[in-house]
Amino acid sequence: MHTMLNNLSLAETERWLREPDEKPLEELWAAADAARRDTVGDAVHLRGLIEISNCCTRNCAYCGLRVENKTLKRYRMEKDEIVACAHQAKQFGYGTTVLQAGEDVGISREWMADLIRAIKSETGLAVTLSLGERDEADLAAWREAGADRYLLRFETSDPELYARIHPPAQGKTVSDRPAILRQLKALGYEAGSGVMIGIPGQTYASLARDIALFRELDLDMIGVGPFIAHPGTPLGSQSLPSAPEGEQVPNTELMTYKVVALTRLACPEANIPSTTALATLNLANGRELGLLRGANILMPNLTPVDYRALYEIYPAKACIQETARDCNTCITARIRSINRTPGVGHGGRKRSA
Ligand code: SAH
Ligand code: SF4
Repeated sequence: MHTMLNNLSLAETERWLREPDEKPLEELWAAADAARRDTVGDAVHLRGLIEISNCCTRNCAYCGLRVENKTLKRYRMEKDEIVACAHQAKQFGYGTTVLQAGEDVGISREWMADLIRAIKSETGLAVTLSLGERDEADLAAWREAGADRYLLRFETSDPELYARIHPPAQGKTVSDRPAILRQLKALGYEAGSGVMIGIPGQTYASLARDIALFRELDLDMIGVGPFIAHPGTPLGSQSLPSAPEGEQVPNTELMTYKVVALTRLACPEANIPSTTALATLNLANGRELGLLRGANILMPNLTPVDYRALYEIYPAKACIQETARDCNTCITARIRSINRTPGVGHGGRKRSA
């Protein structure tokens, strides 16, 4: 039955995004779950997330780390602390560590390259970076140092909305994240991207185009999560306009599952996480439902507790009190509870012959 949901047109995708009834949606969940099983299998790969710095020079309208949020205490972890977290990832059996930060000019090319080399030589883990928009020379040096993957969400494929919520860096024009993703692939990275769901101003039609762009870019990883309002930001304080009545995508749990499922059908081989933002909307079983509706990746948090609370991209983020060990125990139990297995090895993109 699920083959009928392959190759959906933009209009069909939009129709699913607008589908209000649980009953027909069962068909979508089943098709996405079958596609997931057929392509990436039952393993749930674990990516240990280390939020290495909350310093950021950018001013994204949606994010609590934006430079104009002066109330946030800033931190940058020491190299030794980060390497210790990577060792913990290894101990827990994770195949990958993800180093994420604001767009932090204090993270220099050489400092980062040294860190990557240390993690690779000491742990052998796959290293994923998520450090924002950096010069090609930085990206090339980090790839050279051994980084395997890079995450950079394009946030929305609607150029007007993008420009409104993602003002350019000082002295630059609006960035072209799809172009950066192509550059990352050319450098030999596995490239990951994604969008927020329910950004004020986001229409159903543009969200359908986002999913089409995932496919067009042939992304290796795709992360989607609900937009969660942060009161210290322009988007969170509702000072930016919503889309017209009937066109605005809601930032709900249900809409997130639809996008996860449609993304799996559009990009069957991609690694797709069930995200923390989704867990934030439904702590009880959001992660599991994501995994049952197309996702195959979880990202347990390894950030030391003192820093975790300060990495406040949005408020009331799931699991900010927990230690890395708590997250490991919790996530492993959740995987087993739905009869899936924690992945073994790096868990990179699989390509069908
Ligand atoms: N600075 C890097 C990485 C950290 S931000 C970057 O911008 O790429 C990582 C992701 O968090 C962003 O891509 C965005 O999709 C998400 N995010 C930011 N603010 C959010 C919010 N208010 N609600 C939900 N997700 C948000
Ligand atoms: Fe900085 Fe990333 Fe937040 Fe934008 S989304 S303000 S680049 S941390």
